[in-house]
Amino acid sequence: MISASNVPDQHEPSRGRPRWQQALAEAVCDPAELCALLDLDPAAVLPARAAAREFALRVPRGFVARMRRGDPRDPLLLQVLPTSAELSQAPGFGLDPVGDLAARAATGLLHKYHGRALLVSTGACAVHCRYCFRRHFPYGEDSAIAGGWAAALERLRADTSVSELILSGGDPLSLSDRRLTQLTDALRALPHIRRLRIHTRYPVVLPERIDAGFLKWLAGVPLQKVVVIHANHAQELDHTVARACRDLAGAGATLLNQSVLLADVNDSVAALADLSEALFAMGVLPYYLHALDRVAGAAHFEVSDVTARALHAALASRLPGYLVPRLVREVPGADAKTPLV
Ligand SMILES: *Cc1c(COP(=O)(O)O)cnc(C)c1O
Ligand code: SF4
Repeated sequence: MISASNVPDQHEPSRGRPRWQQALAEAVCDPAELCALLDLDPAAVLPARAAAREFALRVPRGFVARMRRGDPRDPLLLQVLPTSAELSQAPGFGLDPVGDLAARAATGLLHKYHGRALLVSTGACAVHCRYCFRRHFPYGEDSAIAGGWAAALERLRADTSVSELILSGGDPLSLSDRRLTQLTDALRALPHIRRLRIHTRYPVVLPERIDAGFLKWLAGVPLQKVVVIHANHAQELDHTVARACRDLAGAGATLLNQSVLLADVNDSVAALADLSEALFAMGVLPYYLHALDRVAGAAHFEVSDVTARALHAALASRLPGYLVPRLVREVPGADAKTPLV
C-alpha cells in the first residue's frame, strides 16, 4: 500500500504550476551535485562536465533516490551520468542511426511503418539517457512544437492509411495538459485515427506527471490508448511507479514497456528476468528489448548480437512467453523493427 505522504494532492491549486513541473525544474543537472548526493568520488565530476557539454546531464531527484549510494556501477546511475567514454569516436556510430531524417513525412512527423505515424511532439525529456538515439536529433528545427503541428495534422488528414498516431519525442508528457488537449482535440477531425500510443519515460522517471489533470485528459480521449513506458532495470520500478501505472490503466490505457539492452546495466539473464517480473507486477507487459541504436557517444553501452541472442534465449527458457520481450533492432529503411532472433 502507498503511505499517505506519497499520495499526490488530487486537488491541485489552480494557481501556480503543477507539482510535476516543479519536480521537473528541480531535476539534477550538475554532475558535482549528483556525485555529492550519491557519495561518489568527485574525480568523476570533471569528465562528466566535459561530456555534458555535448548532451547535458538531467535526472529527476526521485530517480536519483532509487540509486545506491557510493556505487559508481549502479545500473540507474550508469544510464544518466555523463562519462569520458562518450567523447571517444567509434566506427559505425553516427548522428542519425535510425534514419529519422529520411523518414520525415512532414515537420515533426515520421512515417516509417504501415498504419502508424510518429509525431515528434517535443524535444524535451524529463531525463537525459546517455544512450539515447535522439541525442543528436535536430529538435530545434523539427519538433512539432509551439503550434508547429499544423503540417503534421494536415499530412495525417490526407493519409487515411494511418490508424495509429504515436506521440513521441523527446517525451510527449513534457507537454502541458493544455497542449495535449489541443492535440487530441485536433485529432477529432481525423476519424481514421483509432489508436493513440504514447511513448514516455515519465511514469518511470517522474511519476508525479501522472496526476489528476493528466488522468482526466487521458480518460477523456475517445480513442484506444496504449502507453509504452521505458524502464531498463527492475530497480527503477518503485511504489511511485506502480501507482502511476495503476492510474494509467485506470484511465483506460494498455501498458507496455520498451527497454534498451545496455552493457553493465541489464545485460544479464537475472536483470532482464527481474525486470519482466517487476513490470508484470505493475500490470505492464514487456514489449521490445532494443539492440542499442548506434549513436555517436553510446558505443560503450553496446552488447554484441551474439550475447544479445544468448540472453534472449536464456530468458525465453526461464519465463512465460508473454514476459519475454521481442529482441529487435531498428534498421533504417526496413518496414518494421527487425527481430534479432
Ligand atoms: C518504432 C517506431 C514505430 C512503432 O513501431 P511498432 O513496431 O509498431 O512498435 C512507429 N514509427 C516509427 C517512426 C518508429 O520508429
Ligand atoms: S527519455 Fe527517451 S527520448 Fe528522452 S533521453 Fe531518454 S531515451 Fe531519449
